[in-house]
Amino acid sequence: MSTIFKKIIDKEIPANIVYEDEEFLAFHDINPAAKVHVLVIPKKEIKNLDAATEEDALLLGKLQLTVAKVARILELDKDGYRVITNIGDNGGQEVYHIHYHILGGEKLPVKLK
Ligand code: 5GP
Repeated sequence: MSTIFKKIIDKEIPANIVYEDEEFLAFHDINPAAKVHVLVIPKKEIKNLDAATEEDALLLGKLQLTVAKVARILELDKDGYRVITNIGDNGGQEVYHIHYHILGGEKLPVKLK
């Protein structure tokens, strides 16, 4: 089932986009948990890491490289940043379209989100 992120991919609802290519999209989180809080998603609809299969191996590798690329675009690479992906109810996942949170722009507390 499609989520709000599919609507962002399809430009049906607006988002503050940082980076886009054929396979991936990165945009600022609507409710930032840090000074810089960006979400990186594949355009392919995969629920979360648990729902990914062998078929998604290349995509997942590229997704991680895209996270690092987006962090460099945001100039977070010099001072560092945190990457999180939430899985399922206990993990606090709200949107069931796989995404990595990039959090940075400040010294982060040990526990976040
Ligand atoms: P999750 O809890 O699923 O790991 O994270 C989902 C994230 O998506 C949350 O941090 C939430 O603030 C963000 N989010 C939910 N709806 C929207 C939206 O419509 N636009 C944007 N930019 N972010 C959203």
